Amino acid sequence: MAKIPMKTPLVEMDGDEMTRIIWKMIKDILLIPYVDLKTEYYDLGLEYRNETNDQVTFDSAEATKKYGVAVKCATITPNAARMTEYDLKEMWKSPNGTIRAILDGTVFRTPIIVKGITPYIPTWTKPITIARHAYGDVYKNTEMQVTEGSKCELVCTDKDGNETRQLIHDFNGTDGIIQGLHNTDKSISSFARSCFNFALDTKQDLWFATKDTISKKYDHRFKDIFAEIFENEYKEKFDAAGIEYFYTLIDDAVARVVRSDGGYIWACKNYDGDVMSDMVATAYGSLAMMTSVLVSPEGVYEYEAAHGTVQRHYYKYLKGETTSTNSVATLFAWTGALRKRGELDGLTELSDFADKLEKATIQTIEEGVMTGDLYLLSSLENKQKVDTETFLKEVAVRLEKLL
Ligand code: NAP
Ligand code: MG
Repeated sequence: MAKIPMKTPLVEMDGDEMTRIIWKMIKDILLIPYVDLKTEYYDLGLEYRNETNDQVTFDSAEATKKYGVAVKCATITPNAARMTEYDLKEMWKSPNGTIRAILDGTVFRTPIIVKGITPYIPTWTKPITIARHAYGDVYKNTEMQVTEGSKCELVCTDKDGNETRQLIHDFNGTDGIIQGLHNTDKSISSFARSCFNFALDTKQDLWFATKDTISKKYDHRFKDIFAEIFENEYKEKFDAAGIEYFYTLIDDAVARVVRSDGGYIWACKNYDGDVMSDMVATAYGSLAMMTSVLVSPEGVYEYEAAHGTVQRHYYKYLKGETTSTNSVATLFAWTGALRKRGELDGLTELSDFADKLEKATIQTIEEGVMTGDLYLLSSLENKQKVDTETFLKEVAVRLEKLL
């Protein structure tokens, strides 16, 4: 059979440890035999990041801007232990942080749902995608511990030197704490556009919630910016696509999410997204079944798995043991990227291939063949635990039948 052609290359960002091993297996077993794979390769493995003083990370992000679609393997974010392990020149920053800052994107995380693994909230039969605003608020705060008798004010000096002051609190009779937060119209607008675009892209409703009744300026600004951009730029497109933008209060949103059956995107402010994405991921069962895509307001996409490099499995692998590491989220990063590339380049065959590969993967698990993490969760009766490579080969068998 002739290989499926590609036009524009994907930006391929290789990574670290167990996921780097899985990366190669996926390419060798499920991609290269079927697709005339075109990629522009960037090695974001820690060794090469160190060698290039992290320049390779910046280059890969610029390439993503140029081509529009990237697929990324999980990478190590160095800490003190990694400094010694890899003999690093510097404690390089998180590649994801660097790429996100350059693309100004929003991260959307979606669980992969399979029969046999029931979410802790059994009504969640469709995925809930969480979009977290990854700038500002408490993550870029200024805070102080203050002593009894202190008077704390918020002071803003505008560009002409005019001061506006507002009392925060008079600390009479007790010590206390204060905190200064900010966000920018620019960042909130980018966040809103990424969310509206992704909703259109995936034909799902978009939910957004803040606490605007209590925070009448700060949270209300988020609400207003979303509403304005929606009315001016997206309302007609949403109507045409038959999807809805729904705004409510954060506590009402939480209650509705729990009662829902899923199938929508939930846009969250930074802190809400941090907390809720862990809640949602856990409720769906496994971090290894969670995909992630960074979407820029200009419509640039970077796909990856939500989990890390699975270090513990890698050390076993280095000792010569075969591991049963789950490759599904990394595989879906590839299918997501290939499908998007197909859409952008008008290559239906490529997008169809991505759909079929996902179908074959889900079918494999639903027929009882799975890695150890899922084996522990699955309620299927005839289930079988296999190692990483065997799983991918089983997917290939089913893929061949679909092609
Ligand atoms: P992790 O790699 O996500 O793994 C944590 C644990 O979760 C594993 O030990 C394993 O549990 C389970 N797990 C995660 N993914 C799995 C998979 N695909 N298959 C089977 N089990 C899986 O997190 P970590 O160990 O905290 O971090 C390791 C490295 O990854 C760190 O250096 C961190 O900086 C990096 N990291 C990168 C990214 C990214 O690039 N996006 C994200 C997070 C972390 P068991 O050991 O119990 O089997
Ligand atoms: Mg968190």
